Amino acid sequence: MKLPKELREKEELRTSGGSSKYCSVIKCRKEAVRSLSENTWKDYVEKAKLKYKENRFKKIYLCKKHYKAAKKIRQKDNKYNQKKGFLDDSLNSGRVR
Ligand SMILES: [Zn+2]
Repeated sequence: MKLPKELREKEELRTSGGSSKYCSVIKCRKEAVRSLSENTWKDYVEKAKLKYKENRFKKIYLCKKHYKAAKKIRQKDNKYNQKKGFLDDSLNSGRVR
């Protein structure tokens, strides 16, 4: 049986002792709400001007506040990429002028 992604993340956030993981951002001691892949989220976390502690699981754990900050950057980034594709299209058709 496949677990939904959110549930799996919750499982990951629990250590074997049953206590929760904490936010990877340096100087932040809040409980993590999300466990994210370092590969995917590294840039966004860095662009949000957050410094995080790396760990051997290649995961970034974020509390609610820091996850929101990183998510904002990610959404902006996605929008920018979509826009860029759109602009490329319009640029090509605009050459006719
Ligand atoms: Zn945090």
